[in-house]
Amino acid sequence: MTIQNQIIQWFNEYDAMARKLYPTYAKRPVPSIKFIDKGRANGVAHLAKWAITFNTHIAAQANEAFRNTVSHEISHLIDYSIRLTSNHDAHWRMIHLALGGTGDRCSAYGATIKRARVMNTYLYRNANGAEIWVGPRHHNAILRAKVAGVRNSKGEIFMAADYTGQRKTLT
Ligand SMILES: [Zn+2]
Repeated sequence: MTIQNQIIQWFNEYDAMARKLYPTYAKRPVPSIKFIDKGRANGVAHLAKWAITFNTHIAAQANEAFRNTVSHEISHLIDYSIRLTSNHDAHWRMIHLALGGTGDRCSAYGATIKRARVMNTYLYRNANGAEIWVGPRHHNAILRAKVAGVRNSKGEIFMAADYTGQRKTLT
């Protein structure tokens, strides 16, 4: 079974459970499900759009444990059907526990993360031989002379002239 089909199967279980337990949820249509294969979030509940996005890159690593994310996100929609808002407070938690979930705000599955966007970092080396990798925002600010330079945690300063020309893409 593909991970998408596995998630849909779990989702259908929780959807059926929710329809029995929560009349306000039962009045609404079945939420739409989308999949994304990158980013830090296990899943996202789009309350007003009545939709949930699940991260298949994380789900494929979490396996059976990912059930908890499925019930987590559907609990947000149940919560929303009752009070037109949802966050991770006691009300949401009660719903998640009722569905057999952990009530945790976030499940860390120890999965590797695929960045939502690739990011470049830039290597600077100062006269003392100290090095620092600088992100794109600071790098551009230094090159455009909007800031004099950057400082690392030891207080060492790196200026435009310290840029090595070396760039690395984080994926
Ligand atoms: Zn949440």
